[in-house]
Amino acid sequence: MTTTQRMVLASGNSGKLQEFHRLLSPLGYDVRPQSEYEVPEVEETGLTFVENALLKAREACRVSGLPALADDSGLAVDALNGAPGIYSARFAGEPKSDAANNRKLLDVLVDVARGQRMARYWCVLVYLRHAEDPVPLIVQRSWEGEILLSARGEGGFGYDPLFWVPTHACSAAELDRDEKNRVSHRGLAMQSLLEQLAT
Ligand code: IMP
Repeated sequence: MTTTQRMVLASGNSGKLQEFHRLLSPLGYDVRPQSEYEVPEVEETGLTFVENALLKAREACRVSGLPALADDSGLAVDALNGAPGIYSARFAGEPKSDAANNRKLLDVLVDVARGQRMARYWCVLVYLRHAEDPVPLIVQRSWEGEILLSARGEGGFGYDPLFWVPTHACSAAELDRDEKNRVSHRGLAMQSLLEQLAT
């Protein structure tokens, strides 16, 4: 008999929930959205992905009483000195909007030529067994690409239609979902976290 290990995903982002569900359910993990436990959205006051991921995971553990997985991720563009970085979700302000963020990214890069539009997605994952866990599991991984001059593709979420993946000659929004999970910042971070969970 297989046992299912329940964990809360400390995020309200449905795109992330779908990706984690697809990665973790075949391995026997039951990933529940934090909305099911009425976990309030925490203020992301950290200055780094890891600080924000810890804040989110701790709150989800505290409220749900379950282990929690938090992902803090974002896009760092070389020509913008790493912006939008930890502010990726709200780059164009509140309310958060992928479409507005993508428009703003194209606007601020309007004078940056092809070949100088290198960028990296970053993903930090934090797994806390309980709210006072003194040794959280932490991994951070990146995925390198280039910002396109206009959007391509319908899949993925966030900046994916603007993120050119040179290894696959398509945008992240044109990648097959399983392939994105295999090669992306989140997929790589997840593979590394799973190795740690298994030890
Ligand atoms: P967070 O929910 O505060 O971690 O914000 C992450 C933000 O980074 C998202 O709202 C997207 O704008 C961006 N982002 C992170 N990962 C991805 C991805 O895989 N594809 C597209 N955008 C992403």
